[in-house]
Amino acid sequence: MVNTQVGQNGEFRLEPLANGWLVGRFAALEAVGVAHLVTTRQGPDVQQVRHDPAAAGREIAQALGLEDAAFLEQVHGGDVVTCAKGGCAGFADGLVTTAKGLALIGKSGDCPIVLIGDRRGRAVGFAHASWRATVAGITPAVVRRMVDLGCDSKDLVACICPSAGPECYEVGEEVCATAISGIGSRAEAFFQSGSAGKPHFDLWHANTDALIRVGVPPESIHVSGVCTLCRNDLFPSHRREGSAAGRFAAVIALSASSQ
Ligand SMILES: [Zn+2]
Repeated sequence: MVNTQVGQNGEFRLEPLANGWLVGRFAALEAVGVAHLVTTRQGPDVQQVRHDPAAAGREIAQALGLEDAAFLEQVHGGDVVTCAKGGCAGFADGLVTTAKGLALIGKSGDCPIVLIGDRRGRAVGFAHASWRATVAGITPAVVRRMVDLGCDSKDLVACICPSAGPECYEVGEEVCATAISGIGSRAEAFFQSGSAGKPHFDLWHANTDALIRVGVPPESIHVSGVCTLCRNDLFPSHRREGSAAGRFAAVIALSASSQ
């Protein structure tokens, strides 16, 4: 039996689905009626999510009662794609839609996926906020795209999914230097020195900061607080398992019943 008590802040919890999966859900997205879930090892096969996201996406769409699923070839950059139908939407790290019934599937094995819903139901999106994509500004780029599509940033609700946490995400000095040159000196606050003397990159803090700077209210930004290295029992982790690690999916959709 998996311990379903995850995170410390109550923002994110695990729950069983009728199909036997155990999935993560954010209270803040549920409160505004945005369909979403985060898969765990008790769910779609983690190797299938990584290598055949079309097939995994169909299973996930079915689990959510949705018609179709779209995903990206994630490339650790700053580009955003708007999609209107299922399948691979392109090479990018941000995906947005205004289409109802279409599940957007982000893949992760340590990288933060930021799920972004609109309390008025006009669009949904996600950012695959790996450290390189974070430095490239992927999360604010997704917000700007949603604003271009008619959303008001004040209506957005952003949730940072399980990912390598600040206690565990050790990086080299060159990552620190790249981040500070890309983001500016305020990025110094995103790094702390770990016990081994190397910097740790707090991607939860970096993405929260980026969301606030494009007008998402601080009270509408939620962090699962779950580290994939610490909870490798639930989630695949590239850092823990190496290059053969699978992926879990973080999923968001405008359900057909959205206004
Ligand atoms: Zn950890």
